[in-house]
Amino acid sequence: MPNGDSQDTKGQSGLTATALFGLCPRCAAKGVWAGLGALAERCAVCGLEFERYEPRGRGMYLVVLPVTVLLVLSALKLDDMVQLPVWALIAVWGVLVPLVVTVALRFAKAAALMARLEKEGMI
Ligand SMILES: [Zn+2]
Repeated sequence: MPNGDSQDTKGQSGLTATALFGLCPRCAAKGVWAGLGALAERCAVCGLEFERYEPRGRGMYLVVLPVTVLLVLSALKLDDMVQLPVWALIAVWGVLVPLVVTVALRFAKAAALMARLEKEGMI
C-alpha cells in the first residue's frame, strides 16, 4: 500500500503538519513559517497566501498568557520538588520557555490560518 501521499494531511493531522513541520495546508509543501512564529508571505509551490490570513493583534495574547502562567507554575512546582542549581535552571528554562511558547503560537496560528482558509474555500 503506498503511503506519504499529500492527500492524507487534512484535518487534525493537517494542523499538526502545518504547525510543527510547516507544511502547506493546500499542497503539503514545506515553507509555511518564515520565522519562529511568523507565517511566510505565500506558499512557494501553490502560491497560497499565508500572510493575508495571519491572525494579528491581541488574539495571540489568549494563547501566550495561559502558556506563560502554566510555565511559571511549572517552574515553581519544579523548584518545590527538586532544588536545581542556578545554571541548570537557566539551561532548562532557557530552552523550554521559547520552545513551548513557539509551539503553542504555531498551533494557534496554524489553527486560525486553516479555519480562515477553510471558511473561504481555499483548502
Ligand atoms: Zn502550497
